[in-house]
Amino acid sequence: MIYRLVRSRRRTLSVEIHAAGTVVVRSPMRTSVADIEHFLRSRFDWIAGKVAQAATARSVIPVRSHANEFYHRGGLLRWEPSSEPLRTPRRHADTLLLPASLTATPLHAQKAVARWQRREAEGLFEELIARHLPAIGLPGLRYAGLRMRKMSRRWGSCSSSGTITLNEYLIRTPDACIESVVVHELCHLVHLHHGPTFRELNLTLMPWHREADALLDAWTSVLSDPPETTNGARSPVHQDTVGEMRTLTIRQAEALAPSLSNAEVSAEAIISGVRPSI
Ligand SMILES: [Zn+2]
Repeated sequence: MIYRLVRSRRRTLSVEIHAAGTVVVRSPMRTSVADIEHFLRSRFDWIAGKVAQAATARSVIPVRSHANEFYHRGGLLRWEPSSEPLRTPRRHADTLLLPASLTATPLHAQKAVARWQRREAEGLFEELIARHLPAIGLPGLRYAGLRMRKMSRRWGSCSSSGTITLNEYLIRTPDACIESVVVHELCHLVHLHHGPTFRELNLTLMPWHREADALLDAWTSVLSDPPETTNGARSPVHQDTVGEMRTLTIRQAEALAPSLSNAEVSAEAIISGVRPSI
């Protein structure tokens, strides 16, 4: 098993299995590799299970076969320089034609695609909010506007002042996922928590939201594909490049050894006697 070891001034050891299937181990500065690998062996079944789950989840995502392809509303589009003079990008079926001046380098083209996608996202997000806001009733009056951000760990949020923030990378995922996140955030205009009353409202407004949310989980890996960090947003890929790659050899007997009883609950281990914060 290959894992990335990231040491920092933390007090506990943890394992993260990212959507791309990468195993990242975060450890205190002084924990020995022997202790770290003992911990990994004891959690091997759990880790292998999560890596397999991530692979299954990724299999619902179409595979990019060309550098010009990008994810858009759950499918793949491909950008191409237009042979005719164009002032702005124009979509034609699965192709996004870009003015030739915007395709001088792949990076230029990528930025032009990102700008186009951001405008598409804004239009779609506004449309979905307008469609579902009336169902919220009076609390809908608290809606204070839409903000869009590039985020690596969140799809959306709703502030107590009524501002809804949506991850502009949501435009890469299927429409059902986008709609479900929008409705989820609108429900927060009524309930600023995830308690039973929130869940009931969410289910009433969108009876199929659980399926959509599960699908969205599967699409998590497109948050970092391609790793576009033009505005300084940290993507998971960026974080993955920190640390040191190591290989852990697991002998058959160790892999079959029963995992520790709490391994199913949490991948956090208590090495220094301090409980990890949640
Ligand atoms: Zn929420």
